[in-house]
Amino acid sequence: MAEETIFSKIIRREIPADILYQDELVTAFRDIQPKAPTHILIIPNHLIPTVNDVKASDEKALGRMMTVAAKLADEAGIAEDGYRLIMNCNKHGGQEVFHIHMHLLGGDFLGPLVS
Ligand code: ADP
Repeated sequence: MAEETIFSKIIRREIPADILYQDELVTAFRDIQPKAPTHILIIPNHLIPTVNDVKASDEKALGRMMTVAAKLADEAGIAEDGYRLIMNCNKHGGQEVFHIHMHLLGGDFLGPLVS
């Protein structure tokens, strides 16, 4: 059994977070240390530690994460100029919290991904 992270507590609203969206599959909230003017995390409500652990049965929640990303980008007014969606996996990806999450970053020119 994978160990819960702080994100499970955010989903259950046991600790404070700036939650922008929640439904039966996913939750989205503002990153506590924003790396861009808009920095939102979108996560499945059930625990998947890394992208390596994704199963076919997770596809509905993962698809919803994309739909919610597009909706929140639109609401933030960054859809037309554009934004970046990132999912980090394990050590080389720089993953710190082992509950998969999609970073939605925008509101400024982000530069090349690797320079
Ligand atoms: P990295 O820190 O390298 O981006 P991750 O991809 O695992 O690694 O991202 C974890 C993200 O979760 C970080 O951007 C961090 O600021 C954010 N975070 C950690 N704790 C909280 C919290 N309590 N509320 C909101 N965001 C959080």
